[in-house]
Amino acid sequence: MTRTVTTRLEPATDTRLLGDYVRKILAAPVYDLAICTPLQVAPALSLALGNQILLKREDLQPTFSFKIRGAYNKLAQLSEAQRRCGVVTASAGNHAQGVALAARTLGIQATIVMPTSTPELKVQGVRSREATAVLQGESFPFALAHALQLAEERGYTFVSPFDDPQVIAGQGTVAMELLNQHPGPLDAIFVPVGGGGLIAGIAAYVKYLRPQVRIIGVESEHSNCLQAALRAGERVVLPRVGTFADGVAVAQIGAYGFEICREHVDEVITVSNDQLCSAIKDIYDDTRSITEPSGALAVAGIKQYVADHGLRDQTLVAINSGANINFDSLRHVAERAALGAA
Ligand SMILES: *Cc1c(COP(=O)(O)O)cnc(C)c1O
Repeated sequence: MTRTVTTRLEPATDTRLLGDYVRKILAAPVYDLAICTPLQVAPALSLALGNQILLKREDLQPTFSFKIRGAYNKLAQLSEAQRRCGVVTASAGNHAQGVALAARTLGIQATIVMPTSTPELKVQGVRSREATAVLQGESFPFALAHALQLAEERGYTFVSPFDDPQVIAGQGTVAMELLNQHPGPLDAIFVPVGGGGLIAGIAAYVKYLRPQVRIIGVESEHSNCLQAALRAGERVVLPRVGTFADGVAVAQIGAYGFEICREHVDEVITVSNDQLCSAIKDIYDDTRSITEPSGALAVAGIKQYVADHGLRDQTLVAINSGANINFDSLRHVAERAALGAA
């Protein structure tokens, strides 16, 4: 289930697009809030796979995912007038926590619309960061519609979780750190994909500076919206989306992200839920840290890719994107891990 994409855009136009993102990434003031996360060797995985596997530990960020990079960068770029009006978003997950924390840090009023089914823990996560949580709509699309309506009626700025150049640039700071932390040979970077903000920011930076490094997107087979869009040649809407990997449960790839991904992502692969459970265990064995299902996508992708292509002695990076998992679901993960390893 792989797809190779070759470059088609006029080189000049293309370089300008990437250059604009690189400038935004270099200027993103994310370290007011985000940390430069470690890039660590995973010794047991490296040995088992016969390749050097490095983990970029975005699960160690404040709020336990990379989402604060994009959220903070977007909010930091708002005008005085926009800041005074406040911001709104729709999310039940890591973006909600990122926007809430970024808004509190910058003294901006944030309203987060969450579906009525959102677990209390996540509602509390938003309220404890002094944002207003509005429970509205039976599922995400309804919550989103309400958030957009609030933006319209009250003049709030809508903060997209992925489909915004400043959000993409904030996420791209992951790649800036990574290339600084590892100036030596690097064969591929595996990146989890939901709406495509993270992979777009990483691809823009890496392909501008070190184009020989391969960028491989990893999606859940139940939400493969980038793979479907690349196959169709346009952004399609998936009829159904599975939510086990809730951080990437997105039905349509973002427009800004797709503009970059269609030219600069080398391949997109998919993995199953059982493969994710097995990867959570592998990451635990090497780090004693638990990642959420979306956070383990890249490691699951590396395992599959190495098996499919018989890779040896390469240096492969996995973006460990987040750690927000309910303690209650660990039993399920542990049970399925053995199946995913088979
Ligand atoms: C949001 C998220 C992703 C996917 O990022 P996109 O920019 O939507 O592609 C991956 N992992 C985690 C943990 C996330 O929260």
